[in-house]
Amino acid sequence: MQTSKKKKVLFAASEVYPFAKSGGLADVAASLPKALAKEFEINVILPFYGSIDVEKYCIVPLQLSYVIRMNQKNYEASLYGCSYAGITYYFVKSPCISEKEYFYGPPDQGYEDNAQRFTLFCRVIVELLKEDQAYSILHLNDWQTALAALLVKEDKNLQVKTVFTIHNMAYQGIFERSTLEKIGLSPHYFNMEALEFYGDINLMKAGIAYADRITTVSSEYAKEIQTKTFGCGLDGFLRHHQNKLQGILNGIDTEVFTPETDPFLVQHYSSENWKKKRENKKDYLKRSALKGINKPLFVFIGRFTWQKGIDLLIEALDKTAELNINISILGEGETAYHQKLEKIALQHSHIHLFFGYKEELSHQLYAAGDFLLMPSIFEPCGLNQMIAMRYGTVPIVHSVGGLKESVHPLKEFDPKSKKGFGIDFDESEAKALLQAIKVSASLFETSRYKKVSKHNMNCDFSWSSSAKKYVKLYHELEQ
Ligand code: ADP
Repeated sequence: MQTSKKKKVLFAASEVYPFAKSGGLADVAASLPKALAKEFEINVILPFYGSIDVEKYCIVPLQLSYVIRMNQKNYEASLYGCSYAGITYYFVKSPCISEKEYFYGPPDQGYEDNAQRFTLFCRVIVELLKEDQAYSILHLNDWQTALAALLVKEDKNLQVKTVFTIHNMAYQGIFERSTLEKIGLSPHYFNMEALEFYGDINLMKAGIAYADRITTVSSEYAKEIQTKTFGCGLDGFLRHHQNKLQGILNGIDTEVFTPETDPFLVQHYSSENWKKKRENKKDYLKRSALKGINKPLFVFIGRFTWQKGIDLLIEALDKTAELNINISILGEGETAYHQKLEKIALQHSHIHLFFGYKEELSHQLYAAGDFLLMPSIFEPCGLNQMIAMRYGTVPIVHSVGGLKESVHPLKEFDPKSKKGFGIDFDESEAKALLQAIKVSASLFETSRYKKVSKHNMNCDFSWSSSAKKYVKLYHELEQ
């Protein structure tokens, strides 16, 4: 009998579901390691934020503590751990990380010491790797972890290979030049090949420059970020490193997101008993002020930020009054958007607004909705559209990035295909979104709607195919 020891992988992210989540990164940092666990011994490491529920997840101290010195200042950190859904999780606790209310900062701003907070996180990761040399791969995600790629490369005693995944180019960890000293790095990193970025320092560049391989969350986005429009100032740098860049579409955790067993739903359903989906809509309408079970319900779930197409949404919303539809919006984000949306919701009885981050309500909305609105200006991958399709809620998407890759135009609908379908639009304009809403409202009147909704529910949005690409990549790195 052949017994092969599994390779050890450390997966690092600044948020991981269910411990800490503000967006799709947390979902991916939970579901991808789970999908890879058959093939590798994979442990996940994240910052120990104050909001993490220690008792619920039985998180215990591991008797491992560190004193990290940066800029003549000692930062104390200690490691905690737990086992959850078959995976071992490590949490990095330190006053500057754990004694703050938010993960990254209050709405509209980041904490002043974010560079120190996340560098500390990276430095503890490296300490852990030094203690346990059995790790062969370190998988880093987004700028908060990017510096670890540089620290590993510069440590001649470490053999571990690094993968850096870009979830969103819009967040790069840009700080003033003086921060270099504050995070304990030598001034020689202030050059174009390393961290220098238009006179500042850019921590994402550490991941791009020093990681052995770079991935991003869809093939479309991998192409887009090498262009001026989507590269957020790093397109040239990415083109320079393109030989190690590849796009791998994210998947969703189909055990968490499944209308057959989702504990948050009032009524479970599947494509076989599709009619029962309506009970969720009925329940939601009863709880909100919205009226009319026969009107299509359009839902938006997401961060209120430019990227998500909120400006388009706001402009289009005003013009939806004459349509026989309901709209429900769940999200939080920039104050200016809150104010604008609140004003619109007060003026229109067919629009219901819910501010905040509500995991439970989001699941209920995916189930209650007939259509999902996703007018993102750019979208690296996007998970909402995949979750929506799994719940039979037909997505309306701006055809860009991961949305283009995962939602196929309805005009090409083929019931035999394994792809998911939705209503897409090309122009990033309110009138294009409005037109897509009108097309959707008409579709809802026809029997085709049910066909598309049921078809999407049976598509595979799990990690099964994308995880194989990561398995291949990890194996390639070891050779
Ligand atoms: P992002 O750019 O925010 O990461 P994604 O589409 O990749 O966007 O992932 C968003 C994830 O966050 C999905 O699981 C979505 O359901 C969830 N989500 C976003 N906003 C909220 C909210 N206000 N309440 C609950 N869940 C939310």
